[in-house]
Amino acid sequence: MNGQYFMASMSRRNLLQSTGLGAAALACGRVAAAPVPTMERGDPLSEFSYGQVEFADGLHKAQLAQTHDIIMGLDEDSLLRPFRYRAGLAAPGCGGAPGCDLAGLYTLDQAVFGQWLSALSRYYAIAADQPTKEKVQRLVRGFAETVEPSGKALGPAGQSNAYQYDKFTCGLVDAARYVGDPNALPTLSRLTDGARLRMPDHVIDAFNDDEYIKANENYTLPENQFIAWQAGAGTRHFDIARQFLNERYFGALARGENVLAGRHAYSHVNALCSAAKAYLVLGDNRYLRAAENGLRFVEDQSFATGGFGPNEMFVPFEAQLLWDRPAIPSLADSLKLTHHHFETCCGSYAHSKLTRYLLRITKNASYGDSMERVMYNSVLGAKKLQPDGRAFYYSDYASDTEKRYNDGSGGVVAVSEWPCCSGTLTQMAADYRINTYFGDRDGLYVNLYIPSTLRFEFRGSRIALTQSGTYPVGDDVHFSITTDRPTFMNLRLRIPAWAQSASIFVNGRPARVRVIPGEFAAMAREWSSGDVVELHLARETVLNPIDAAHPNIAALVHGPLVLFALSSDMPVVTREQLLRVRQVAENKPSWVVQSDTGPIQFAPFFAIDREHYTTYLKVS
Ligand SMILES: [Zn+2]
Repeated sequence: MNGQYFMASMSRRNLLQSTGLGAAALACGRVAAAPVPTMERGDPLSEFSYGQVEFADGLHKAQLAQTHDIIMGLDEDSLLRPFRYRAGLAAPGCGGAPGCDLAGLYTLDQAVFGQWLSALSRYYAIAADQPTKEKVQRLVRGFAETVEPSGKALGPAGQSNAYQYDKFTCGLVDAARYVGDPNALPTLSRLTDGARLRMPDHVIDAFNDDEYIKANENYTLPENQFIAWQAGAGTRHFDIARQFLNERYFGALARGENVLAGRHAYSHVNALCSAAKAYLVLGDNRYLRAAENGLRFVEDQSFATGGFGPNEMFVPFEAQLLWDRPAIPSLADSLKLTHHHFETCCGSYAHSKLTRYLLRITKNASYGDSMERVMYNSVLGAKKLQPDGRAFYYSDYASDTEKRYNDGSGGVVAVSEWPCCSGTLTQMAADYRINTYFGDRDGLYVNLYIPSTLRFEFRGSRIALTQSGTYPVGDDVHFSITTDRPTFMNLRLRIPAWAQSASIFVNGRPARVRVIPGEFAAMAREWSSGDVVELHLARETVLNPIDAAHPNIAALVHGPLVLFALSSDMPVVTREQLLRVRQVAENKPSWVVQSDTGPIQFAPFFAIDREHYTTYLKVS
């Protein structure tokens, strides 16, 4: 979340006037020769396009359809109204029905406009849906009319607007590259003129109250600026990207120093995406080490779900007056001190981008494990976005709690409708597709086990790989291959680190393949139409303590899923009882534990609706 909109409700003290920061060093990485925009260093795995992956019915597909319906239903005059108003243009509204005259955060901060533009463009890349394309084009046209030289489109005067500029950049670049909208990059160019006037000329990585507002997450800019440059928006974006690389943060992380404590969580994971992107563009290993070490430190302080950042901050952190946040010394303390344990949609979106970069660069399956854990245990279970702007924001890991829409409580988000997470959820719902499969010169990597079909060309053959199965509520993933001619290809399947007794069968016989937990199992052979692969991922049950100091406060984890106790208090159970958890019916998302006081039901996050749940149990 970005702090900018707090300006509206804060004291009149203009925090942005105090930018007498002197000449902070611009430690841009030196590159010998200007890189080629389309080139990526380090021979990373390639992504497939959004449209090459088709999902079967299920939670992922439903989340995309549901979020897409909401954005498509938003009235365009209402979306454009704050921009038109600031530009001094006629700004008609539509009269207050749901989806009209967007309330809540949208009245103060329209960054989600950029995220929705991005999500619509990605949806068009998936579905080639004409009404979606036309809506993108109308919105870009309408937005372009409001972009004037002083940068009013970014927000009220006197603000830095780096956060808004970042999201608008993403939306306009996606409109250009996925919809082919000819107005998108020229609009970005004019928007950038205004952004340059407003933003500081150097990165401010700030996490105390005043500095955070000034920084406005400008340390997340490079990723989308590099992407804009790659999309043909001009070398100015390459220069901005390098200018805002967070060298002090990345330098410390690259040296192995854990500097997360007290930093804003989502935006600093998002910043790690800029480090990974900088590595791909500039080829400097320090950025890769920063991204890898940074993620490792995040995981060291993640909940069993993979969520991180109670009250949006990395622990430990001091009390913060502006945000009305208490000090939180540890994850275990956070269970009692807050209901805001993970900024679910933004945090998952940043985490999925980061793990996708690192998986592509390193080909290390552990990044796929990490991505899968967060996906199943958080964002896939987000409550549905509502047409009136109610959105899921925080996952709550306190005892006896429930899923809630953002209500503006807790001092972190002062208004409730259309928060940041209503933007990132729509992008995340599209990106499951590009997270599922990757390619390289000799074949294919299957990263996620989501019922789907990938269509691709390989060495001149046209191949379709279809996966189905019961995973993650069952053990089985089934693949079938069709190809217009027999093709030699390396098919690699991610074996999660927890899958200690996984097995693979090809056409009914045990595959001759090394199946090692935490690695990709690689099957290089000639594949023909009708070939069938069966992956058996026997799910194991473990207890995941909240931290080393509290071994008896633990979450129950089954395969990739955290199982949440559907109970209205913090049940006391023994380790043995928990580990004997039993699935109520085969392939159904329901489990039961027999405790001394009777049976306790358990469910994964995505199967919980209104039930009260408890994440961490006292284990005796
Ligand atoms: Zn958010």
